[in-house]
Amino acid sequence: HRELLKIEDLTVDFSTRQGIIHAVRNVNFQLNTREILGIVGESGSGKSVSMLSVMNLLAENAVVKSGSIRFEGNELSTAHLSTKQEKKEHEKMMMGIRGKEIGMVFQDPMTYLNPVLKIGVQMTEGIRRHKKCSKEEAWKQAVKLLEQVGISNPEKRMKQYPYEFSGGMRQRIIIAAALACDPKLLIADEPTTALDVTVQAQILSLIEQSVKGMGASAIVITHDLGVVAELCDKIIIMYGGEIVERGTVREIFKETKHPYTRGLLDSIGKIEEERVPLHYIPGTPPNLLNLNTGCAFCSRCNKAMKICKDYKPCETIFSEEHSCSCWLYCKDKAQELVEAQERE
Ligand code: SF4
Ligand code: MG
Repeated sequence: HRELLKIEDLTVDFSTRQGIIHAVRNVNFQLNTREILGIVGESGSGKSVSMLSVMNLLAENAVVKSGSIRFEGNELSTAHLSTKQEKKEHEKMMMGIRGKEIGMVFQDPMTYLNPVLKIGVQMTEGIRRHKKCSKEEAWKQAVKLLEQVGISNPEKRMKQYPYEFSGGMRQRIIIAAALACDPKLLIADEPTTALDVTVQAQILSLIEQSVKGMGASAIVITHDLGVVAELCDKIIIMYGGEIVERGTVREIFKETKHPYTRGLLDSIGKIEEERVPLHYIPGTPPNLLNLNTGCAFCSRCNKAMKICKDYKPCETIFSEEHSCSCWLYCKDKAQELVEAQERE
C-alpha cells in the first residue's frame, strides 16, 4: 500500500466579525491506497473543514494558514500561494482533480441534485464533463452505475426527477455520480446522517464495496463513531480543531486512550436507543475564538488535572498507528512542567 494523501501540519483560520477562528490546527495524517479512514468528531471539530481544504472548497472567509496536502505527488495546499496568477493556476489544477481523481458525497443529496432535471440528464452530463464520450455512451454508463448502486429498473428511473426518489435512493445516486469517473479517493461527509438506521447500513456497505472493488481509498466523515466501526481500517478522532487520538479500528475501540474518545464510545448505544444527538458528553464544544493554551477538552473532561488547562498535551505513541494527545499518558513530562513552574 502506498501513500495516496498526506497532510502535514494543516492549519486553517476563519475570519469572522467576532475575530479569528482557528478551525483546524496542526493536523497530520496519511492515507494509503486501498484504505478507508474515518474522521470522527462533533460539528465544529474541524473534520469537514480539513476535507474542504483538500478540495479547495473552503468558504470565502477561510484561509489555509500553513501546511502541506500532498495527493499523488501534487501539492493541493493553498498556503504557499500568494499571487492571483498562482491561485488561478492552482484552481485550474483542482478542477482536474475534483470529481475526477477525488469524488465527493455529502450529507444532503438534494444540495447536489438539480430538482428540475431528470436523474438521467444529470448523470450523463456529469459523466460527459469528465470523460470524452457520446451521449449514448454516457447514458449507458449511467444506467450501469445506477444498477451497481442497487437501483432497480434503472432505465425507467433515469427518466425521473429527484423528488421521485427516497432519501436513501438519492444518496445512492450521489454515490453513483461520485464513482462515475473512477476516483482514486472518495470523500464522504456525513453520508448517512439524514437516513434511518437500516438505510445507513446499506449505504455504508455500498461505499465499502464500491471503494474496495475499484481499488480506491475513502475518507468517511461522521459525528457517530458507531457508523465507522465496521467500515473503516483506521480512525482519527478530532476535537476542537485538532486530532486527539488516532489508531486502527481495534485500537480505538479496544484500547481507547483519550477521555473524549471514551465519551464517544459510551454514547454509541444511547444514540441508537433514544436517538439523542451526541451532546450526551456533558458540556459544550470549545469556543474556538477563545481557546485556553492547554487541552481544548479540558472544560468537559472528568479526568482533567491542573496542568491540562495551561499546557498543550504532548502526543504519546502507542503503536505504528495508535497515538493520543492527553496528559494522562505523559505524566512524567507533566510532572517536569509542574516542577519547573513551581521553581519560577
Ligand atoms: Fe482530559 Fe487533561 Fe487529557 Fe485533556 S489532557 S483530555 S483535560 S486529562
Ligand atoms: Mg461537517
